Amino acid sequence: MVEGRTRPAWVEVDLDALRHNVALLAQRVAPAALCAVVKADAYGHGAVPVARAAIGAGAAGLAVALVDEGVELREAGIEAPVLLLSEPPADAADMVVRAGLAATVTSRGGVDALAHAARRVGTRVRVHVKVDTGMHRIGVAPGAAAALVAAVADEPALALEAVWTHLAVADGTAADDRTFTVLQLETFDKVVAGLPARPQVLHAANTAGAVAWTAARYDMVRTGIGMYGLAPGPDLVADGDSGPFLARLRPVLSLRARVSAVRELDAAERPSYGRRRPLPERGVVATVPLGYADGVRRGLFDGGCEVLVGGRRCPLAGTITMDQLMVDCGPDAAVAPGDEVTLIGRQGSDEVTAAQWASMLGTIGYEVLCGIGPRVPRVVVGGPAGRKP
Ligand SMILES: *Cc1c(COP(=O)(O)O)cnc(C)c1O
Repeated sequence: MVEGRTRPAWVEVDLDALRHNVALLAQRVAPAALCAVVKADAYGHGAVPVARAAIGAGAAGLAVALVDEGVELREAGIEAPVLLLSEPPADAADMVVRAGLAATVTSRGGVDALAHAARRVGTRVRVHVKVDTGMHRIGVAPGAAAALVAAVADEPALALEAVWTHLAVADGTAADDRTFTVLQLETFDKVVAGLPARPQVLHAANTAGAVAWTAARYDMVRTGIGMYGLAPGPDLVADGDSGPFLARLRPVLSLRARVSAVRELDAAERPSYGRRRPLPERGVVATVPLGYADGVRRGLFDGGCEVLVGGRRCPLAGTITMDQLMVDCGPDAAVAPGDEVTLIGRQGSDEVTAAQWASMLGTIGYEVLCGIGPRVPRVVVGGPAGRKP
């Protein structure tokens, strides 16, 4: 991904920050284990280097959304436990078995497909039964969970490793949200109490659950966003207990580029498509080679986004284009082609965060991180593992 990089724009992935976050989270949830969620190319950070660093910093295992994502980790030589967070498609069961992934199951069909594949390959598959306690996305209904667990237990080719669920509003602090999380955990506890034996592992918490809900930690938590140094949402940041903890996490991702062109323009000139913003005074406008095809969304212009150039915050000079954007650096700015521009991250004493982008775009930090396109090279920095991905 990094080899042959010619583009003067890049995502910087700080593995020291990642290890710091993993260690903090692991310490907060201990004795529960930490499973590092590296789906969607580790939220845009690069799955393989992040997975290695997370395991090195104390994560007990990894989780992905897709079979292909699990296979990518195995092909990179990663041997840590890998959990698939959804039931694999029946025709991918063979790949799951061969890659030695642990599979979530939510249906009898899923159990049968995996058992069949495991027998064919001549091995056993580790299975996590997922229960729908209120998220209503995937999962067996609470009333049908015991039968599905029994079907797994009766199948010699399958090893029941865990029963789990997923919380819908663990990041909410409103009374309504808290009540719903309590209800989800009660439903989960009831399902587990109705099983003939307690499964080896129970898990329920995402980052918000892990940080804010002691009762949701069980034996393992599945953390994504916190590991990447972002809070799950604004409510928990304002919370008296979770807020100070979340403030200690460090953003892992920065988005940077080098100025490709500079011009001095008169007041009232209107750069870019639509000619939407007159320059307030004569000034220096810098062109930066990143655009909406890279995930620098057009809405950031209307949102009042600023970027850091020479340690100063500068507004966008006009509409973001597909591959490039323009920045109003102000009068007499000493900006030259090749100068580094920070769109997300720290420069000097100032910082622009993915959370700020999210609030300008009416979305969440997760979508900002995952939205940075594969066309932007990822460059790993930090620590002994920070050599090459
Ligand atoms: C993505 C995901 C997570 C991680 O959530 P964060 O909020 O990023 O910590 C955990 N569990 C499941 C099932 C997920 O899909």
